[in-house]
Amino acid sequence: MVKVKTKLVSWDEVVEWCRLLALKVEEDSWRPDLVVAVARGGYVPARLICDFLDIHDLVSLQILHWGKAAEITAEAHVKYPYTLNLSGKKILLVDDIIDTGDSVIIAKKFITENWKPAELKVAAMQWISPVAKIKPDYFVEDVKDWIWYQYPWTRAEDTTNFFEKILDEKAKEGKNEWSLEELIGEFKAWYGIDVGEKYYSLALKRLLDSGLLTEAGENIYRYMKEKRVSK
Ligand code: AMP
Repeated sequence: MVKVKTKLVSWDEVVEWCRLLALKVEEDSWRPDLVVAVARGGYVPARLICDFLDIHDLVSLQILHWGKAAEITAEAHVKYPYTLNLSGKKILLVDDIIDTGDSVIIAKKFITENWKPAELKVAAMQWISPVAKIKPDYFVEDVKDWIWYQYPWTRAEDTTNFFEKILDEKAKEGKNEWSLEELIGEFKAWYGIDVGEKYYSLALKRLLDSGLLTEAGENIYRYMKEKRVSK
């Protein structure tokens, strides 16, 4: 039984969504002078949109908001504020997905107040319309039922965090020893996706390196709950 609705996104889907986003901007007869990627999720889409629109100016602004995969943590804020003069320029602010909308709202406010562009529009591949506090000017998918998009650029991070969540939940039922195969089995059952052996091995290595798992025999790993810290 799937516990967290998750969509495994392919690189090809990302390219197609960005092509469609660029088309929407073009059909609007609006041409940005500069693209601003909301880091980190907006990096790849912003770069692809630059390619599809033949735009050569791209900068980014890092917003911190989401913690571990599919869990909201702290308040959104600009991580590294810096100064730019964008007076007279038209800006396209790009993120991968607009969920709560907080990241884009903070980025938009910061850019408008500090970089003072002539115009700013927002583009995102996905817009979770029932929960988002802001509607992007351009989007490809209007997501009506909340789902976690497992984008290719967060695959290692998400797999590690999903493993950690499984370990933590199952520890509450008294299960603290695992084989990698068992963990992978739970992962597939909980998230309904298969990210492949390379990512499972990488996630296992990260959990061993962090001390959250320790080796307790041949292909047996023990969960060290006390090592869990929120990121
Ligand atoms: P937001 O809640 O709109 O501020 O989202 C902040 C960032 O978290 C997004 O730009 C994504 O990188 C990530 N994120 C939020 N919700 C999701 C989701 N449902 N699926 C995948 N990534 C997400």
